[in-house]
Amino acid sequence: MRFVLDLLLGREARQRGYVLRTLLAAFGYLLGVLLAEVALSIGVAELGPARVFEAAALTAAVISYSLVRWGWTRHFHDPAMTMTQMLVGQTMAMVAYVLLHEFRGGLIGLSVAVTSFGSFSLTRNRQWAAGMYALLTMGSGMLWMSVRDPVNFPPEVEAVHFLTLVILQFMSAFLGAQFGEMRRRLRTRKRELEAALARIQELANRDSLTDLYNRRYALELIEHHVHLKDRNGRPLAMALIDLDHFKLVNDQHGHALGDRVLQTFAQQARQATREGDIVARWGGEEFLIVMPETSVDGAAMLVERLRETLSALCVSEEVPALRIAFSAGVTAHLAGESTDQTVQRADLALYEAKSAGRHRSVVA
Ligand code: GH3
Ligand code: MG
Ligand code: MG
Repeated sequence: MRFVLDLLLGREARQRGYVLRTLLAAFGYLLGVLLAEVALSIGVAELGPARVFEAAALTAAVISYSLVRWGWTRHFHDPAMTMTQMLVGQTMAMVAYVLLHEFRGGLIGLSVAVTSFGSFSLTRNRQWAAGMYALLTMGSGMLWMSVRDPVNFPPEVEAVHFLTLVILQFMSAFLGAQFGEMRRRLRTRKRELEAALARIQELANRDSLTDLYNRRYALELIEHHVHLKDRNGRPLAMALIDLDHFKLVNDQHGHALGDRVLQTFAQQARQATREGDIVARWGGEEFLIVMPETSVDGAAMLVERLRETLSALCVSEEVPALRIAFSAGVTAHLAGESTDQTVQRADLALYEAKSAGRHRSVVA
């Protein structure tokens, strides 16, 4: 059973939906052929035109199924070719209506079924347009036949048929248009949710004061870079930085200025680093800079450049003498060791830098 379905519909889930719809449309064509056969067998339809209709219906069924099943419409805006199918189907329904005399009543239902196909993928306006097209084609057929052959197509009967068609088409197009609107709203909602999710993720990954990556996300990124490094063998350096006597800044100048110092440091650190580097707020006044494809010497140089920049930078006009100073432990990730081990080594080096009098870097 599964094998048959795979063969009939293909394997790809989205494609299967399109093929299934095309197959349903093909059944509509087959129903037309069946009606034609019955009409022929009891002699109400003319042989020639009925055969031409049957051939056209079967050709339309085979061609549309093949096009969709073998993926030739895959890159179309609408891979199920809904609008084309509806226009062809509707026209065929009208032809059958004209050809099948007493059996034409069934074609009213078929015409409505054709319109309902649009509810899968057409926009609200196109759904209404498809309904109008149905009324126009079927209506012309009815009018034409009631003038040309009033014995078999009595105008009163045609009028009732047309009225029935108008009501049913209206119902079908109305529901289809509602589906279309619902799909549109769902799409918008989905886009909004995706944007909100991206924003939440961004917020969850960043520290709100400095806008740097937070420790949790930085660890994720580092793990990723360690994997990369294990594969490409390029060096991976990191520097753990702690601001010197930061408590004094808070105590002497207030917490707000302390915050400003942290923000200024973050800004300068970001400017000093390269595109692929990771700058994270590791703790209160502690920061981690991870530098992929950088040697430990390169990392130490970057840290010293940052130190120079900061020592020349005035953080606040109110306290012009205030400078940001820090100590740093610089190290490289060694093959086979865990991220924790690398960070611990950087931490020890930082501790050494503090013990040795602060305002310096120690490379480990
Ligand atoms: P050391 O040179 O040994 O690192 O001395 P320190 O004063 O920098 O270190 P300590 O750990 O004693 O003090 C860190 C201070 O950082 C204490 C804490 O109140 C402050 N701090 C942590 N987070 C923030 C923050 O978000 N804003 C401000 N303004 N201060 C913070
Ligand atoms: Mg500290
Ligand atoms: Mg400190």
